[in-house]
Amino acid sequence: MTPERYQRLREVLDKRQPDLTVLMENVHKPHNLSAILRTCDAVGVFEAHAVNPTGGVPTYHDTSGGSHKWVYLRVHPSVEEAARLLKDRGFTIYAANLSQRAVDYREVDYTRPAAVLLGAEKWGVSERAAGLADADVIIPMMGMVQSLNVSVAAAVILFEAQRQRLAAGMYDRPRLDPETYRRTLFEWAYPREAAALRRRGLPYPRLAEDGGVVGE
Ligand code: SAM
Repeated sequence: MTPERYQRLREVLDKRQPDLTVLMENVHKPHNLSAILRTCDAVGVFEAHAVNPTGGVPTYHDTSGGSHKWVYLRVHPSVEEAARLLKDRGFTIYAANLSQRAVDYREVDYTRPAAVLLGAEKWGVSERAAGLADADVIIPMMGMVQSLNVSVAAAVILFEAQRQRLAAGMYDRPRLDPETYRRTLFEWAYPREAAALRRRGLPYPRLAEDGGVVGE
């Protein structure tokens, strides 16, 4: 771990947004899952959520650009459990959904805790999931085709969220709580060591200013 690399990890972590996320419902094509995680990394999503990605075990595609290493993916057994956790954490769930009740995605205030629910490639957001969402948002379509690719839709909405958050100064200071920041920094800087310590139930050591492990 060079000091430069450590500094870079910190700069990225300083911009992570714990209150912006996606919930992918049955987004099962690995290249779509990977492309969405890549966008999540770019806008600073800290943790993404999925229900039944790729039929059970998440698999990633080259399109991730390695972003699955930097964005935690939490997999839920059902959309109900995912929605409950997000609501308990204060998120408003916006279903990207081509429905009659949907509002233009730019009308939403994404500086508040926001989760964007994305539907399956073929079927879209399920009725069950839509029933759990607080509102539906739509990206207006003016061409011949009815919908965008799910990863494109995710990017359009998440970059609107980034635009609003930039304007609100939400990338100007670290937003993760200090314990999450410290833990994540160690996991990013020393992934193998972090995994070994977790397996043994041991705490992570402190890191020095230059990224070295204190006491080594
Ligand atoms: N036939 C499906 C439907 O009617 O929803 C199309 C699914 S689309 C290929 C996959 C997902 O991308 C959708 O479930 C939605 O989450 C998102 N999406 C695609 N185009 C969208 C748009 N114009 N507005 C909002 N979400 C969109």
